[in-house]
Amino acid sequence: MIVGLGSTPFLSSRSWAQEQASPTPASASEPTPTPAATPEVITSEAPLDPMAATEVYLARVPADARARSDAYFEGGYWLQLWNYLLSAVIALVLLFTRLSARLRDVAERITRFRALQTALYWCQYLLVTTLLGFPLAVYQGWYREHQYGMSNQTFAAWATEQEIGLCLGLIGGALAMMVLYAVLRRAPRTWWLWGALAAMAFLVISALIGPVFISPLFNKYTTLDDPKLRDPILSLARANGIPAENVYVVDESKQTKRISANVSGLFNTTRISLNDNLLNRCSPAEIEGVMAHEMGHYVLHHGYILIAGFSFFILLGFLFVKATFAGAVARFGSRWGLRGPVSDLAALPLFGLLFSTFFLLATPLTNTLVRTVEAEADIFGLNAARQPDGMSEAFLKLGEYRKLSPGPMEEFIFFDHPSGRSRIFMAMRWKAQQKPPPP
Ligand SMILES: [Zn+2]
Repeated sequence: MIVGLGSTPFLSSRSWAQEQASPTPASASEPTPTPAATPEVITSEAPLDPMAATEVYLARVPADARARSDAYFEGGYWLQLWNYLLSAVIALVLLFTRLSARLRDVAERITRFRALQTALYWCQYLLVTTLLGFPLAVYQGWYREHQYGMSNQTFAAWATEQEIGLCLGLIGGALAMMVLYAVLRRAPRTWWLWGALAAMAFLVISALIGPVFISPLFNKYTTLDDPKLRDPILSLARANGIPAENVYVVDESKQTKRISANVSGLFNTTRISLNDNLLNRCSPAEIEGVMAHEMGHYVLHHGYILIAGFSFFILLGFLFVKATFAGAVARFGSRWGLRGPVSDLAALPLFGLLFSTFFLLATPLTNTLVRTVEAEADIFGLNAARQPDGMSEAFLKLGEYRKLSPGPMEEFIFFDHPSGRSRIFMAMRWKAQQKPPPP
């Protein structure tokens, strides 16, 4: 994550579709959901009532498991706020102590090349903000995951991954900042437009190189060789016009107990992978349903749609910065040691604070964009795999870390996937609408 510059999933080192399809914490203390007895409503001769069938699925989750997953997920709402507030405090500390102005001066003393000054400032800025944000990152990324039984990873292994991420942030971030600040210097009036186009190019480049160069730094990818599992998936892919020759398995069990699958890459780097947790703990029907969902992302061009959508939000974010930046500099600029223009490197903490304020306020809209394509992928997956119960089982497993049954407002604001209730209802509605099979 490029610290201080908003929280769009695109700025993370992971691919856009790095998403959990369903987790199953395996600790012995974990209350296991009741066995997957086929619900009565589903087998009966009477027409299926999707609402009632959804309730039958949801009722299988014991109250204590439900309470735990609700607590984990609702804690995530607060974490979004704490992360924002902490980054705001860090930005204000950098500005009010004039540390940011001093970091700029250091960069200017070392070199007279503007682009190198930008890279130097960025590296100092990222190191300072990462250090100050480290306690919350440890709590959220490591301690809390163990507290809720989502991870077995040792602290050393987790910290090593953070270091790799930091190195990527130093290199990738410096390149991005060199481009952004060149735009800010050369187009003082229209930088928001050119900056958004540059951001779009960066999203495309990171999506392209992600599966080839970034993901292998964290995990090992192998091909799925068991023909019993592989062949139905490849067959499903070919039937839907996906030229796949391999199914990739990623060893994410070393980081998490969650079950996940994703589509990553663009153009010829696109690939669909499933993680080893999914492979080890889901039935073939569940795996097929989840993979068909991922294929939906590919066939429906969600990668391109999300890049276009997030580029638009970045453009709006830049316009928000443009509208508010001058006022803040007029009021506090001299106290902070700023020179005035938006291209002043020392003003990066202010730029980042304003930009991330926009993205915090836009959270319901960005979540709705992602949630909408996720719902489309669900419907594609139902039509392709024809496994409404397999998919519902997977959705129920997802409910172990994602609140199953939120209120409509809560789902609109906080959910980047439809809730378990919505997804199971979609599957049951699909099932209820099927014509009887030909004799
Ligand atoms: Zn998805």
